Amino acid sequence: MFCTSCGAQLEEGVKFCTSCGAPVAKKEDSAYVVPVPQSGNSLSVPAAPELTPSNVLTWGIIAAAFACTFFLSFLGIIFGSIALKKADSYIAMHGPVSTQVKVGHILSKVGIIAGIILTILCVLYFLFIIIMVANS
Ligand SMILES: [Zn+2]
Repeated sequence: MFCTSCGAQLEEGVKFCTSCGAPVAKKEDSAYVVPVPQSGNSLSVPAAPELTPSNVLTWGIIAAAFACTFFLSFLGIIFGSIALKKADSYIAMHGPVSTQVKVGHILSKVGIIAGIILTILCVLYFLFIIIMVANS
């Protein structure tokens, strides 16, 4: 190694230049230290949150709840399709291991079926009212 001040050749490990007396920088104090990016969280926080049994159940409940709400039953079909897709993908990865997944899977189907039936009834109900108003 060489002195950064005067260029004299120095012995390895000396703290001051034997020629000019300037302090000799250690290697780890200078540009040899490569900054390490703080990327430790990349594994613990994935971009897409992983599907959990309670997610599957929540989607199933939302689907069934909308399906059974008379004027919003068409939303039961939409949410039921989403819930069924999530339940199926969870079962494909992990199998129907927990009760939450099984119930969520059933509720998503209930949401779709009840949503279709109640949407038809809703349309018939409006048609009935329109006919009654038109005939009065
Ligand atoms: Zn020197």
